[in-house]
Amino acid sequence: MTQSFVISGDLLIGADSTGDNKSVRAINPATGANLEPAFAIASEADVARACELAGKAFDTYRATSPEARATFLETIATNIMEIGDALIERASEETGLPAARLQGERARTVGQLRLFAQVVRSGEWLDLRVDPALPDRKPLPRPDLRLRQIPLGPVAVFGASNFPLAFSVAGGDTASALAAGCPVVVKGHLAHPGTGELVGRAIRAAVVACGLPEGTFSLLTGANETGAALVRNPHIKAVGFTGSRGGGLALGAIAAARPEPIPVYAEMSSVNPVFLFPAALAARAEAIGTGFVGSLTMGAGQFCTNPGLLFAIDSPDLDRFVATASAALTGSVPAPMLTPGIHAAFDNGVAALAGHEAVKTIARGAPAEGVNRSPGAFFETDVEEFLADERLGHEVFGASGLLVRCKDIDQMIAVAEKLEGQLTATVQVDAGDYTIAAKLLPVLERKVGRILANGWPTGVEVSHAMVHGGPFPATSDSRTTSVGTLAIRRFLRPVSYQDLPEGLLPVELQDEGVKGLPHLMDGVRKGN
Ligand code: NAP
Repeated sequence: MTQSFVISGDLLIGADSTGDNKSVRAINPATGANLEPAFAIASEADVARACELAGKAFDTYRATSPEARATFLETIATNIMEIGDALIERASEETGLPAARLQGERARTVGQLRLFAQVVRSGEWLDLRVDPALPDRKPLPRPDLRLRQIPLGPVAVFGASNFPLAFSVAGGDTASALAAGCPVVVKGHLAHPGTGELVGRAIRAAVVACGLPEGTFSLLTGANETGAALVRNPHIKAVGFTGSRGGGLALGAIAAARPEPIPVYAEMSSVNPVFLFPAALAARAEAIGTGFVGSLTMGAGQFCTNPGLLFAIDSPDLDRFVATASAALTGSVPAPMLTPGIHAAFDNGVAALAGHEAVKTIARGAPAEGVNRSPGAFFETDVEEFLADERLGHEVFGASGLLVRCKDIDQMIAVAEKLEGQLTATVQVDAGDYTIAAKLLPVLERKVGRILANGWPTGVEVSHAMVHGGPFPATSDSRTTSVGTLAIRRFLRPVSYQDLPEGLLPVELQDEGVKGLPHLMDGVRKGN
């Protein structure tokens, strides 16, 4: 079955489709052509209305049963699938990404909605705890204490440019916030507004089908001021963001300056260092070389987990790696980048590295044919030069990698100590490397959210044990993740109930209610 939704260019504010000021069009980055229709830019009044509706919806939405909320998430997933090829075609036009990549991303998007439905049903996220009263305890009796997690309130979500489905209107931030019981107001990314509207309409149809209040979901398009007004709005209680360091910091500053500051969970900037160890290079330098270029150039390098920095000890085996990687990159054909702005930023970043006196260009990709494309780039420098200029460690969003040659393991560890926070670190290791690799791992634990061995950081599994986070500037809060089921915790807070009579306790904390759910009874895990 397919559902057809129109792309009207309207804002979706609760049940209303509205927008007078239709002035911006999406661009097909593969051709540079403007796409129809024009999209509305939300005014301050539009932002205020969406947030007010979200505030009104909050108590009703958060009181939904786990089953009702899980069904809502599953209905969104079904509705997105029912849009069918129209969604893939529009997303491909707006992003230049191939249909196969977008089909995979759609599967991931509906998969994570369904996974969060399971999480909601399981009750684990409620983190129920009961410390029964000890009236005879000396010298003082203990009160009856019961704890559960409740949702924070309406959440503002900023869709990412580089995942038009999985990190956009119904992406990970929206799924985790809705699972937690928070209404969501999305500011869609102007790189793919038609894709966003189709998905937004699928969510709105699920709101109606599940009998939820209209303010459970709204979708706005607009410029910087729209996002700023959204973060300032007093109904908004948390923000989920994926994008640039500058954007994340700007929104964080606005949130912190509010009369009531709120958390901003921003995923911003990461160069995802890869450490090539000697025994691994000796055994498979060529395979590591081709694997690296495959990861570097995937999706024109437009992944937050793109491997932008490599560290290795100088050796003939390292030269074999460099030769293979260079040959692979030279043969790689540039794909269109997501937006003219991202393309220009890539060109500037690559030009700065190519023109840096301490950096050597090892290889470039095949010449670009068509607009918004640039060949990938592979550079090298040494540790002293790398440490002398912090800009060499900054993200160049796209297929750009920098190899840093080290003299020995101590130098490799010393340079790792100087890195900024990262989403990931990768080690290429064989058994002969374990002794020296073990010295690096404690440093990496302090720097990153995910450590992986003998793979590549692109490709993030959506699961229970995934962390897609890390210390600043990878994210604004290293205690959280934006991918995987742990992401729900960002939008929850604990409330403790002391000596409340049974009839006034939330159902899941009443004596009978708690028995059917996972909980801690006086510190002992029960119910699962
Ligand atoms: P972006 O410029 O940070 O924009 C992301 C969203 O935040 C957009 O909705 C944008 O609104 C909004 N925004 C940005 N600055 C703002 C401000 N000062 N006040 C209010 N709202 C603001 O990111 P992008 O457009 O996706 O790509 C630009 C760069 O971001 C890339 O070149 C890359 O460096 C980085 N990036 C990183 C990741 C990652 O995963 N780490 C992913 C994508 C992009 P407007 O559209 O109105 O500006």
